[in-house]
Amino acid sequence: MKRVALLGATGSIGRQALEIVGGDSQLELVAAASGSQPVEGLAPLTQVGGDLTELLERAQPDVVLNAVVGFAGLPATLWALEHGVTLALANKESLVAAGELALQAQERGGGLLLPVDSEHSAAFQCLEGRTPEQVDSLVLTGSGGPFRGRRREELEDVTPEEALAHPTWSMGPKITVDSATLANKGLELIEAHFLFGLPYERIEVVLQPTSVVHALVRFRDGASLAHLGYPDMRVPISFALTYPERAATPAPPLDVSQGLVLEFEPPDLETFPLLALARRAGEEGGTYPCAFNAANEVAVAAFLSGRLPFLGIAAAVEDALAEVEGAPASDLDDLVEADAEARRLAERGVPA
Ligand code: NAD
Ligand code: MG
Repeated sequence: MKRVALLGATGSIGRQALEIVGGDSQLELVAAASGSQPVEGLAPLTQVGGDLTELLERAQPDVVLNAVVGFAGLPATLWALEHGVTLALANKESLVAAGELALQAQERGGGLLLPVDSEHSAAFQCLEGRTPEQVDSLVLTGSGGPFRGRRREELEDVTPEEALAHPTWSMGPKITVDSATLANKGLELIEAHFLFGLPYERIEVVLQPTSVVHALVRFRDGASLAHLGYPDMRVPISFALTYPERAATPAPPLDVSQGLVLEFEPPDLETFPLLALARRAGEEGGTYPCAFNAANEVAVAAFLSGRLPFLGIAAAVEDALAEVEGAPASDLDDLVEADAEARRLAERGVPA
């Protein structure tokens, strides 16, 4: 029996995780938390808002599924890694902002870090049992979002409603907007760098519009392994929660009997500048990825509340990043400060 603490229980990942836990007699929900929505009755221990590490201390779970959205998930990520408690990580923002600290905490804690992000779960599976030297490169796939194929001029007036209409995945609002700007692939690039220890030049992003291929790993001998399946987050959630058992899920297996066409295309880096900007922030290292994430969170919130046009998201992030003073990220305080500074800078570019 695995005792699961679910953080972000009311969200898109959280609700799908409840379904997985509810359908598996080997998983027991011991704690559930949200930011503001009610969670009472979901688990023996619940918490709304506040310091999530207090809940984790009380619950002493075997697995933490961190499905909080944004930088707010960071203390819980570090708590699990530091305590050697298996971390099923959906909250990519925490690993992007604090990659080095997270890996150091994991080293001390000695526990497992299992990605829930579909591309990273896929890559993890393709890479299992391999050493970094055997790997040539990693390919992260993305659908391209609702605006794939459009030119810049065609994005000037797009509304939050249009940005939220994702072609293949149904997800929370923040990540859905990130998918429309390709900031999500940028965050995932940095996430992959830390998870798999690969330098940025060996991680490529390619669009695969039907979201059937989740990742592809090229090995040094010329072989490539890809991970395929219909887009359904219950699969990577279940993989992480039941690892290494690979329990059954309600997701249908891939049907190839009627043929299956897989098309790939390069991302349009000019129309969607946040992907290249994230790559640069990742390569700069230190507090830059944290600042990229913070500025992006501010800009996405401003877009969703109608204060910023769609193209203003990338512009606000770019302007904020141009002004931040990058520094090494040596402890959590450094990151909290870098996060706050980037938020301030990004807010300046947003009409009140
Ligand atoms: P969501 O907006 O649907 O849900 C977010 C959850 O976090 C909610 O339960 C909310 O109450 C909680 N939350 C927010 N702030 C909090 C705080 N300060 N303290 C405690 N809880 C807080 O988001 P989502 O789409 O479920 O995404 C969650 C995370 O998973 C994000 O980091 C996202 O990038 C990642 N992810 C999501 C998907 C997906 O399919 N939805 C896929 C891959 C990765
Ligand atoms: Mg993903």
